[in-house]
Amino acid sequence: MRFFLITVLLATVALTSGCTKIRQFDRFFLSECAEDGPNPEKEFDIALPPVDLSEHLDRLRQEAAGFSLNTIAEVPYRDRVWPIYLASKSGSKGGKRLLIIAGVHGNEVAGALAAPSILSDVRAYPEIYGGLHLDLIGPANPVGLLHGARYNAQGCDINRDFANFATIEARAIREVIDETRPDLILSLHEGPHDGFFVIATRSTPSLLAEAVAAELKSSGIELATHSNLGSRLSVPGVMEEGWFITGAKTVLRISSLGAYAHQSSTPFLTTEGPWGLSDIDYRVRAQILAVRAAAKQLVSGASRLGTFSAGAEVQEASYNVLSVN
Ligand SMILES: [Zn+2]
Repeated sequence: MRFFLITVLLATVALTSGCTKIRQFDRFFLSECAEDGPNPEKEFDIALPPVDLSEHLDRLRQEAAGFSLNTIAEVPYRDRVWPIYLASKSGSKGGKRLLIIAGVHGNEVAGALAAPSILSDVRAYPEIYGGLHLDLIGPANPVGLLHGARYNAQGCDINRDFANFATIEARAIREVIDETRPDLILSLHEGPHDGFFVIATRSTPSLLAEAVAAELKSSGIELATHSNLGSRLSVPGVMEEGWFITGAKTVLRISSLGAYAHQSSTPFLTTEGPWGLSDIDYRVRAQILAVRAAAKQLVSGASRLGTFSAGAEVQEASYNVLSVN
């Protein structure tokens, strides 16, 4: 069955997009370890600002003032060991729990670089974040971030390792998810599209994704009209993983972080910013705004409806009354 589906999918991609796309599909979706180290991509036009990882970690520690800060993993590479941090803060009793994962793919730099500013945003907007229990993992792939690479030190894609858990990074993320049982997970990414969009798994209310996209648009962020796979988005800025994609991921054994969250029906949003833009401040700002918009929806849902709960059936209709302001 897996072989049959892979053949059909590759044939479809070949007919619609050509052989380069086949190779990219195999590399990005079917390969767990496509490289032999943290090698940068050569085929894409990614605007990669230089990253000083030590400085980034310093800033993350500074902005974590008022949070509890723990090292959840140490990633050895050559003669150094790089930490993956977990910054946490408690919310009010009964408050919902939000988990943010910054920078699983090291060459999608805006997601990783946004982490310190997200912590300062949490302090700046107590009316949004005050009641939430918040956990932030960053940088989720420090060696990839250091080298501008999608992959970790071993050349593995952490976001394809949520079945085998062969990487230190995926194991550390799984431990946090299993221990904290978040009501919503946000994973911050970028890609080759020209606008911003969010991907909602089947465990995620589509109206939550639409509300986040609407708020981004009203803040001046340009929304994508096509996904990273090139398909047209019926709602600009929103891609919903319907039953076909969810089923295909299962059959193809694409063991992503989102698929892992879906196993426990945990709502999960992937942010996808445009990595080709040279304006890195805009790209980072878009990620911060997406987190803020999602947090706002989580708070509204919790206070008015109480429908966000991990492991529970999501009641999509309840989101019809949510405000996007
Ligand atoms: Zn990514």
